[in-house]
Amino acid sequence: MNRPDTDNHETILNGISVSPGICIGKAYLVDKEGVDVVRQYPILKSQVKKEIKRFKAAVKKSKDALRDIIEKTPEDFRQQTSILETQEVLLKDKMLYGKTIDTIENESVNAEWALKKVVAEVKSIFQNMTDPYLQERAADIDHLYDHIMRNLVGANQVNIDQIDKRVILVAHDLSPAETSQIRLERIKGFVTDKGGKASHTGIIARALEIPAVLGLDNATAMIRNEDVIIVDGTAGTIIIAPSEQTLVKYGERSMRYEQHKAAITRKSRMPAETTDGHRLMVLGNIALPEEVVSVINYGADGIGLYRTEFQYMNRSDFPSEDELYDKYSDVIEVMGAKPVTIRTLDINGDKAVGPGKGPAEVNPALGLRGIRYCLQRPDVFQTQLRAILRAAVHGKVRIMFPMVSTVSEVLMSKKILNEVAESLDKDGIAFSSDIKIGVLIEVPSAAIMADKIAEEVDFFSVGTNDLIQYTLAIDRGNQQVSHLFRPLDPAILRLLRRITEVAAEKKIKVFICGEMAGYAIHAPILLGLGMDGFSMNPQSIPVVKEMIRSIKMEDTTPLVEEALKLASAEKVFEMLRETYGSILSEIDRTE
Ligand code: PEP
Ligand code: MG
Repeated sequence: MNRPDTDNHETILNGISVSPGICIGKAYLVDKEGVDVVRQYPILKSQVKKEIKRFKAAVKKSKDALRDIIEKTPEDFRQQTSILETQEVLLKDKMLYGKTIDTIENESVNAEWALKKVVAEVKSIFQNMTDPYLQERAADIDHLYDHIMRNLVGANQVNIDQIDKRVILVAHDLSPAETSQIRLERIKGFVTDKGGKASHTGIIARALEIPAVLGLDNATAMIRNEDVIIVDGTAGTIIIAPSEQTLVKYGERSMRYEQHKAAITRKSRMPAETTDGHRLMVLGNIALPEEVVSVINYGADGIGLYRTEFQYMNRSDFPSEDELYDKYSDVIEVMGAKPVTIRTLDINGDKAVGPGKGPAEVNPALGLRGIRYCLQRPDVFQTQLRAILRAAVHGKVRIMFPMVSTVSEVLMSKKILNEVAESLDKDGIAFSSDIKIGVLIEVPSAAIMADKIAEEVDFFSVGTNDLIQYTLAIDRGNQQVSHLFRPLDPAILRLLRRITEVAAEKKIKVFICGEMAGYAIHAPILLGLGMDGFSMNPQSIPVVKEMIRSIKMEDTTPLVEEALKLASAEKVFEMLRETYGSILSEIDRTE
């Protein structure tokens, strides 16, 4: 592998800080080891046969793996395997298979190089086709390339779930579904080449409370298996082969971080009340039922966002009503009288995994995601809603619809919810109908139409991760533009102002559950805008509560007025730092 000599001197890489904390340990490369860096080397004529055999064996392995997945998929879900069947056909195809063999033979080169060359050619043929279906097959080619290449270079198709050492994961990319398989007793932290500021992968890292740095571009090329590395998740840096001195420095820093965290966590159960007596609800976001423990430990006033799609990932079938009922009931029972806000399935977008995976979308963030998917698959939606209504008898439940972009989606969703309630009633099954209904305001059109939507719901919850993505046109998962993902951008503040003003006028509650709420420095602005509650990843609760307890509510209204007059996120940030920066400690995340 071609990388600068990092054996004798430390190397620092800068990425995107997504989950705070420091960890020191040995690197474990989980995927694409060597796959991205394919070297060309000549082979002797006498070795050509052997090389072709090696290529054929790698293809056969991929073919067998695909067949196995197809055959193990239950009959009912066979339509979901059509992509795999296409890939199976492509594997036999003369273009890909035959041409690679010809290239090995004619050019006397290694199989990896021949495959890379042929794939580049074949891919561009597909990409230049006018038929959109055929264009999309380019993605299948990529997938196959990856699969065969892993077989060729002998890189493991690592199942994160099965890693049995205490390591720091180093990956090209980790999907939210893969990240949710991380076992805390084994993984100290992780770093990836790809990934943006508000990606779901980062969100899961925070929920797991392990340091993580994403978007490093070349981590997998620079770091080798077993290298000692330091992950500074707060600063967003990685240090490869640290010197003795650096190890000592980071050891101390890590200790200070843990001490500070412990100190503010001890105060976390105290209410979030400003110095002039304004009390705010601080809630937790969860994705996995087990995270309810952190929500309780950090003294949250309830769950403001339960991301339910993770129960649909890492599996090939849809969960049953009873399965979902059990999962929801567990959480609701533990929370007792505190509210649990269940967001209905927000599948696709960057979570296009599991049984809901349909045909590949060119632009998934704008595709069949969230409520759009549920309205197209009422059977899946009804099953989830039945489970929620049944589980709601155990506590205080709210339902929230994601990715709403029109009033009619709200009306259709409520209609299905009513029908589900009626059918449970008819079946004589216990359920609760005492449920507040809300929507996530996360698409600009929903913010613009907030006055009309407000007439149909009991509350708003602002999903700033997507609201920023769609308003500023910044892919939340793309490291190339992550520096432009600025929650304090005046365009965002103006939209937030509209949403909170509408909520006040229509007398409905408004919460914020995007990651913006989990940064202490944002709290004064969000208070001044009139948010009734903040919901965030549980590990941010202590810091944000601490900040709220240092703010005078009265000061926040003029602060917002001033912020709204500014022209850039940088200026708003500077203003906040000047006034509130001293409250933050060295280890609190800023932006
Ligand atoms: C959001 O978009 O801000 C949000 C809370 O939902 P998610 O991050 O799951 O898309
Ligand atoms: Mg969202």
